[in-house]
Amino acid sequence: MRYSQLFAPTLREVPSEAEIVSHQLMFRAGMMRKVASGIYSYLPLGWRVLDKVSDIVREEMNAAGAQELMFPIVQPAELWQSSGRWAVYGDEMWRVKDRHGRDFCLGPTHEEVATNTVMNDINSYKQLPLMIYQIQNKYRDERRPRFGLMRSREFIMKDCYSFDRDDAGLDVSYGKMYDAYVKIFTRCGLDFRPVRADNGAIGGSSSHEFMVLAENGEAEILYCDGCDYAANIEIAESIPLETVAAEEEKAAEKVLTPDCRTIEDVASFLKMDKKKTMKALFYMADEKPVLIFIRGDRTLNEIKVQNALGANLFYMGADIDLENAGLVRGFIGPCGQKVRVLVDKEIAEGKNFCCGANEEGYHLLNINFGRDFDGEVGFFRMAEAGEKCPVCGGTLRSARGIEVGQVFKLGKKYSVSMGAEYLDENGKAQPFVMGCYGIGVGRTMAASIEQNFDENGIIWPKAIAPFEVVIVPVSEKNERQMRAAEELYASLNENGVEVLLDDRSERAGVKFKDADLIGFPLRITVGDKSLDKGMLEYKIRKTGESGLIPLENGVDEVKALLSRID
Ligand code: ATP
Ligand code: MG
Repeated sequence: MRYSQLFAPTLREVPSEAEIVSHQLMFRAGMMRKVASGIYSYLPLGWRVLDKVSDIVREEMNAAGAQELMFPIVQPAELWQSSGRWAVYGDEMWRVKDRHGRDFCLGPTHEEVATNTVMNDINSYKQLPLMIYQIQNKYRDERRPRFGLMRSREFIMKDCYSFDRDDAGLDVSYGKMYDAYVKIFTRCGLDFRPVRADNGAIGGSSSHEFMVLAENGEAEILYCDGCDYAANIEIAESIPLETVAAEEEKAAEKVLTPDCRTIEDVASFLKMDKKKTMKALFYMADEKPVLIFIRGDRTLNEIKVQNALGANLFYMGADIDLENAGLVRGFIGPCGQKVRVLVDKEIAEGKNFCCGANEEGYHLLNINFGRDFDGEVGFFRMAEAGEKCPVCGGTLRSARGIEVGQVFKLGKKYSVSMGAEYLDENGKAQPFVMGCYGIGVGRTMAASIEQNFDENGIIWPKAIAPFEVVIVPVSEKNERQMRAAEELYASLNENGVEVLLDDRSERAGVKFKDADLIGFPLRITVGDKSLDKGMLEYKIRKTGESGLIPLENGVDEVKALLSRID
């Protein structure tokens, strides 16, 4: 490709709305432009990168035995009604009507279409296992589209679905996808980590997110410094640092605590460590009230509670809900409680807590689980960095990550709700056991930039760079330079090297700046001084290493340089 013909409008200024580096640089490097909030055009350079990421994804999916196909973007409401998700998907679903007023959506994901396709045409266990995938635009009307391609409303996703006879089969398919994801993100040159992830209300530890480690990541992860335990903070567990002291259970006592409605008030009024208090959190789960008690110094993990309850609709109770449940704000306790009670493990295992007395102006002291109250026990709080790893006892550390992909064991969730069955050896109908596996192609591109940039621009890993090499003649008016540049350009092209020839009539400085901004892994400069010596200059974008290579055999020299670049 010749730069003079390339549509790559680079800019020096940073657009004001671009908050993070990847968004700023993709915009400045002329890779994408905004059309509407969260909706972008991919310009040629950006599209080349997306194409490369897609190619890597495609190769590894095919190698893992998945077959590419293409589902429609527009999906009829009936399919979503049959799985029960039309009603619960919420505002993120982009709903549309046809001219007859029939409901459709622009696919945010394709479990329903995939399940429906397979159930109509796969009848026998002999046709299983089956893995199918597509690379396609997805639509989610995100509450806060931001960060450019990182969280947009239209985005490219690879989504794959596996269909197996049983759990053992699903384990195999899941394992193949997991391994393929490791290969994909490694080939893309990313520093990433698979972490245990929320599996919704399905339960089990059967989902992993692939996190690219980056300061700007929206997700927080906890990982162990002693073993390979790593989990999204949404599901992470931990062992507290202090072991429960072998404290004697003391006699319960009721004390006057006027106007003490918060943990801070109670702890300071009673001159007590917050760790000795119990915090009551009031939620509505599928319209039924529920109370969760955690230690006063901890934070509630809503996702864990929602999963434990298997609730679809889950939100913090409002004043009216509190009133209806007969609770006294600020003085709620678990003793004699009529509302359903969930108790964090730490409370159940500790001794002599202070809690509300369910009476205006009073708290109770020395309250103990089992003796004074009961409830369903679980890990309902947020794990914290610095605590101990639940697997090996090592120390948990915190990091931020960008979720670029997720693998998920669905089990029979969709096959049961949609009635998707095959016949087993005995002719008996069985629901398919399914998995689903997504990769955000645009988010992967953005994540790569978050990990690879400097003050001058992007530093693409070679595997996904828009071009591997840029040739920059210092002056396009200099015949000798242009001849050498053209020759090298032609022979690199012949040899399958992806090369851009910067033949624009711009100052050398401008060309260098653009080359750095766009982030080509290797720059070859053709200038008089080096040509006099029969040499070309090279510069490796990532390391800044520069030097001379002989003009003669330029192709082999460039290839040798490229083989040294990741
Ligand atoms: P998030 O929690 O970030 O919203 P998700 O869990 O909703 O992601 P999935 O439904 O698992 O995402 O989608 C698979 C992949 O698609 C994600 O891992 C991510 O890479 C990508 N993705 C999801 N939402 C967006 C978006 N709004 N913009 C760009 N990529 C996205
Ligand atoms: Mg989402």
